[in-house]
Amino acid sequence: MKTRVGIVGAGPSGLLLAQILHNEGIPSVIIEHRSRDYVLERIRAGVIEPGAVATFVEHGVGDRLLCEGLPHQEMQLRWNGQMHRFNQVDEDGRQLTTYGQSAIVRDMIEAREAAGLPILWNAKVDTVEDIEHAPRIHFTRDGQAQTLDCDYVAGCDGFWGVTRGLIPDIDTHMFLKEYPFSWLGILTQSAPNPDKRGYAHSLRGMAVASSRSNTICRHYLQVPPETDVNAWSDDAIWDELDLRFADEGGETLNRGPILSKDVVRLRAFFCDRMRHGRLFIAGDAAHIVPPSGAKGLNLAVGDIRILAEAIRRHVTAGDSGLIENYDATCLQRIRSTVHWSNRLAQTLHIFPGQTDFDTQMQMTTLNKWAHTEAGNREFVQSALGEPYPV
Ligand SMILES: Cc1cc2nc3c(=O)[nH]c(=O)nc-3n(C[C@H](O)[C@H](O)[C@H](O)COP(=O)(O)OP(=O)(O)OC[C@H]3O[C@@H](n4cnc5c(N)ncnc54)[C@H](O)[C@@H]3O)c2cc1C
Repeated sequence: MKTRVGIVGAGPSGLLLAQILHNEGIPSVIIEHRSRDYVLERIRAGVIEPGAVATFVEHGVGDRLLCEGLPHQEMQLRWNGQMHRFNQVDEDGRQLTTYGQSAIVRDMIEAREAAGLPILWNAKVDTVEDIEHAPRIHFTRDGQAQTLDCDYVAGCDGFWGVTRGLIPDIDTHMFLKEYPFSWLGILTQSAPNPDKRGYAHSLRGMAVASSRSNTICRHYLQVPPETDVNAWSDDAIWDELDLRFADEGGETLNRGPILSKDVVRLRAFFCDRMRHGRLFIAGDAAHIVPPSGAKGLNLAVGDIRILAEAIRRHVTAGDSGLIENYDATCLQRIRSTVHWSNRLAQTLHIFPGQTDFDTQMQMTTLNKWAHTEAGNREFVQSALGEPYPV
């Protein structure tokens, strides 16, 4: 098998890259370890920056997102038993949109299938040889070893993928932080309560209430790192959410059947090397941010815009400038977004051994974001996302 761009992974990064390349007339093949159903059912991101929405629309996969996405005009944050409303719209009217990652992934898979373009499901990439000159991707599908020859390899295989490890000395280019807690997440069949959403800074631990649609919600509890999801009954989760979200309004979350539960470990990392020869890593393969900032998918969109443009310029005009500056260009957004996400995580969670002094410092930051013009501007601009360099 041969193609121009071999893409490892059918998450948002790989699918968006394939879509943009297709619009530019550049062929690609996506190789995905998991099944189509598994990828469609994976529940993750939901808050999409205006720049990412515009990118999906510009590349022909944003129609449903525009119709069904829920605009996000304000964010609620609770601390000390009081609710504070944060404006989330900037002076140009830009705002965030809530639309499930599984929905955007579905829209991109359907667009690719409608165009008759290949995604190899249940195909696990093992390694890539001759990365510097003529890459050959080795993968296993149905127990059979197969290869794909290509001019460029896009490593869009997430945090646990193989491609990052193919960059020489990558360990010395990785910056990692493990947080001392996890998030227990639930997907629920319940209507969002407009007066009970956003974040709760509680001494019991942080909590998040968010919606995916008018009938589906996604809520999280900060829990100890090694928490067993089965140790929490459905009632215990709802009760704990209510305790952490308690405020002077007295309202509670709308309860409903819990459709799924999971626990994810919180970490942040980024690499300052994202290319080796003709291999480029993007999205979660190159960086992870704690989900409190809701930035992972949005950062991936930024990388993919740059990677698609770098390949386009090289293929159509032999211009290797952006290819050579791929990591430096991506890192402009990555560094500041990781910084913001870490700051938010440090301010919202309760850390082991946290003192009253630490809590007072967190509340000072929260008060500044909520109640000063400069603080609110910083909060809104960081939430809406940095401009794209390309
Ligand atoms: C609980 C949670 C909440 C989140 N909320 C938000 C949010 O609100 N907003 C936001 O912007 N982001 C959020 N994120 C982050 C977001 O989900 C990720 O940043 C995004 O999925 C990254 O996309 P990706 O395509 O780079 O990687 P992934 O989605 O991880 O996709 C990688 C793909 O590569 C495949 N793969 C791996 N190894 C191989 C291999 N060897 N061969 C072939 N295929 C392989 C995997 O199966 C997978 O399909 C959240 C994440 C979590 C965990």
